[in-house]
Amino acid sequence: MWPWRVFSAKPVTIVERGDDRVALWLAPGTLTKAPPGFRVSIPELAAGIWPFSDWRWYGGRLMIWQRGDSHSTYVSWSDEGEFLGWYVNLEEPWRETPLGFDSTDHLLDIWVDPDRTWRWKDEDHLAEAVEIGLFTQGQARRFRREGERAIERIEAWSAPFDEGWENWLPDPAWPLPSLPNGWERL
Ligand code: MG
Repeated sequence: MWPWRVFSAKPVTIVERGDDRVALWLAPGTLTKAPPGFRVSIPELAAGIWPFSDWRWYGGRLMIWQRGDSHSTYVSWSDEGEFLGWYVNLEEPWRETPLGFDSTDHLLDIWVDPDRTWRWKDEDHLAEAVEIGLFTQGQARRFRREGERAIERIEAWSAPFDEGWENWLPDPAWPLPSLPNGWERL
């Protein structure tokens, strides 16, 4: 979410909610609310202009957040359960609310292939956001430094990468969750 508007809402199953870490499962086929195709230009984002559509999630995503971190790590699978890789999403530390967990995306991301090669993703989105004043230069530098800390973990292959999450499977008995009323309220 952005301070002025919810961007997307995704119903999930809590896999872990410990003192150190939270892990959430976003199952294939889950009905989410989001701008069509999750596609919004940076100026539209800054202006808070986007419609919501029902978006059926494809692929599986386990979102792991170490409390305090300004990023979370997604473990990504195809609809068929094939492991695709890891995604480091730079974002505000999660805020727990009565409805779930909120965060604000920092636009810059890192993708990690199953063979552990990594690359920055969407550096142009963050640069454009700084250009139009959505984020400051200082914020962008901090986001990148957080990414560099994540890259150190990738290169050292430390937690959460070395914990076998790529072999994790959801309980087949879990129902698909749906969004609670009030998901669109800030
Ligand atoms: Mg992101």
